[in-house]
Amino acid sequence: MNKPEIPPADTELALRLKVAACTQLLVHHKLMNYSGHVSARLPSRDAFLIQPIDVPRSGLGPEHLLICDYDGKILQGPAGEKAPAEVALHGEILRARPDVNSVAHFHHDLTNAFTLVEDRPLLIVKNHAIRWADGMPVHPDPAHVANAKLGRAVVETLGKHHALQIRAHGQVITAESVEAVLTDSVHFVENAEALYHATCLGKVVPLSPADIASFAEHFKRTRHVNKLWRFYIESGQADGVLPADWNI
Ligand SMILES: [Zn+2]
Repeated sequence: MNKPEIPPADTELALRLKVAACTQLLVHHKLMNYSGHVSARLPSRDAFLIQPIDVPRSGLGPEHLLICDYDGKILQGPAGEKAPAEVALHGEILRARPDVNSVAHFHHDLTNAFTLVEDRPLLIVKNHAIRWADGMPVHPDPAHVANAKLGRAVVETLGKHHALQIRAHGQVITAESVEAVLTDSVHFVENAEALYHATCLGKVVPLSPADIASFAEHFKRTRHVNKLWRFYIESGQADGVLPADWNI
């Protein structure tokens, strides 16, 4: 896997604002709640930004974020703050996957319901879910990813894929940027919700390989990610969810 360029604009401050904004937006749109976290790899360092364990996700600011190494050790951060219990989830994925620059982990119940039944796998039913055309694995161990061994087990389940669900626990979304991890998180949950509704209506017809190829032919990921990011940032600032003076 090739290592993508991190845009020059992604200074540490820019990444801090993006992680804080992404987290607040995931809470506002009810993908994340009292638990969960977004991480972002820092350019030119084997380290990443992540929020402390107990700071409310709804009020996360750039000044709250920790800098951790891939072992989850805090390198820099506000005095007295601790890393999240599942920091190893982020550290081990970022260590193993140079193509990933941002990870989102949250616990969305309806999406996770597909890990609780035997005969209803999460299928691709919405066009933007082609991101996961090569699979959306389910990690069998519902434990909190509380140490490196558990983190490496998640990495093994993730393989080359871009998302997974942890059974009876939650979602892990990986992407090339914070903007993309927000976009993919939205689409991952949208797809699960669409599948749930379709299942209530009748026999589900998932996207076929031909459907996927047809949509992919004209899809411009970078442009789409930028479009969604601008929509959520600007509507978030207009609605007072995000501070208007965050220059994102
Ligand atoms: Zn979790």
